[in-house]
Amino acid sequence: MDRVWLNDIKTVFPSFKVITDREKMVDYAHDEGVGSLFYPDAVVFAENEEDILEVVKIANRYSVPITPRSAGSNVVGAAVPLKGGIVLSFERMNRIVEINPVDRVAVVEPGVINYDLKQKVEEYGLFYPPDPASLDLSTIGGNVAQNAGGPSCVKYGVTKDYVLGLRVVLVDGSIIETGGRVHKNSTGYNLTSLMIGSEGTLGIFSQITLKLLPLPSYRIDFLMGFDNVKEAVSASSLLLSSSLHPVNIEFMERRAIYYARTIVSSSFLPQDAKALLLVGFDGFEPLDRVLESIDKLFSKNAKYIGVGETKQERARLWKLRRSLHDALKQVSPTMDREDIVVPISKIPDIITFVKELEKEEGFEIVVFGHMGDGNLHVDILKKDADINEWEEKRHRITEKLLKHVIELGGKISGEHGIGYLKKDYLPLGITEKELALYKGIKNVFDPKNILNPLKIF
Ligand SMILES: Cc1cc2nc3c(=O)[nH]c(=O)nc-3n(C[C@H](O)[C@H](O)[C@H](O)COP(=O)(O)OP(=O)(O)OC[C@H]3O[C@@H](n4cnc5c(N)ncnc54)[C@H](O)[C@@H]3O)c2cc1C
Repeated sequence: MDRVWLNDIKTVFPSFKVITDREKMVDYAHDEGVGSLFYPDAVVFAENEEDILEVVKIANRYSVPITPRSAGSNVVGAAVPLKGGIVLSFERMNRIVEINPVDRVAVVEPGVINYDLKQKVEEYGLFYPPDPASLDLSTIGGNVAQNAGGPSCVKYGVTKDYVLGLRVVLVDGSIIETGGRVHKNSTGYNLTSLMIGSEGTLGIFSQITLKLLPLPSYRIDFLMGFDNVKEAVSASSLLLSSSLHPVNIEFMERRAIYYARTIVSSSFLPQDAKALLLVGFDGFEPLDRVLESIDKLFSKNAKYIGVGETKQERARLWKLRRSLHDALKQVSPTMDREDIVVPISKIPDIITFVKELEKEEGFEIVVFGHMGDGNLHVDILKKDADINEWEEKRHRITEKLLKHVIELGGKISGEHGIGYLKKDYLPLGITEKELALYKGIKNVFDPKNILNPLKIF
């Protein structure tokens, strides 16, 4: 059977659109979440919607698994071809089809890099806010499939708040258009919302219509150093209850600062800073009001306030935060990355809990992330611990953490999704009834279970 479907693929697609050599497929056998290799039988590089359709028809005919893949930057193993079959790559479907300043929309192919879209719409005086830290490599297709968030969520929300419409290739070879280019839509069930965050398990996006905003006239960032986590948390609460409406409030604890500093120079920051907030504002009103308010609110408790007004100055401040992913990987190539989200008022509670858990279990746990929306990244580092001890304890630590998150009214993933790595924990966060509904929905869209199998549940 293998040979038959592969022959069909090779007959339909010219050789420059397909690879089947094992050594050439290594990049498609893992992603940022799963490092172990799960080889597909073929990688097909779609260049347009017809290519997607052809792949789907063959896969459906022979019940071959398809794993949609854009940049492979997800951190939960969502783009790994666990059951072999076809990896359907969108890296060549990277055209911005239209930017329309009157309708305030952009129409894009799924493989457009987030950063490229941001830059392009700025030329029209427009703004696409979602900004995952991976924005210079991750794609709009992947962002929609994971409902990616980012620092600017505090003011601007996440990817789902900008998706107006989708063209979706279904596994039976039909194409649906959900939503449209309208900014309001109360027409029946919201299939666009159902597709967002579906991690490639319900349908394949061939085109995405996004809402755009006017580009703010200024943007300014402040990096603030504090003596301890408590001071940083109360500064964040103060900000959120003020009328300032920050774009982002990013947090780094002492160890996160330490590790980031191992790869990025930050001589501007005092060596003894124990906690950091990176706070951003944008808008159209005079900037003086923001500067005055920041001075009033923080001059007493922040030990350092660095200001970034130009693009270069802001990049210098953000470098520390953006380098953390690589810095932690360098210190501990093996780690469990949790992506919890709690009601904002519960942040002090969850940070205290994590620090107690760290003492109790003897593994270093680094906390950082999006304090302004309650979404914290909790990285449990293996470092040089014995592999058996690590395997024995990591599930226990994660389970204790996630159970506490749920007790606080939180969720087990704020923005990274469930994918393959978190699916065992999904039942902690949803009821049996909900899980049954998930399975029913999957069955409607993909009765043969060939679309990104073994993901989410
Ligand atoms: C350094 C770093 C920082 C990160 N920071 C953030 C962050 O701040 N916020 C955040 O949310 N995430 C973050 N991530 C995770 C990751 O970048 C996001 O999940 C991103 O949305 C994945 O996009 P991608 O293009 O790489 O998609 P991929 O990893 O290729 O795929 C992700 C999922 O989308 C599906 N998919 C891809 N294309 C399609 C399509 N056309 N149709 C249907 N399904 C499709 C895949 O099957 C898979 O399930 C970070 C990752 C890294 C490495």
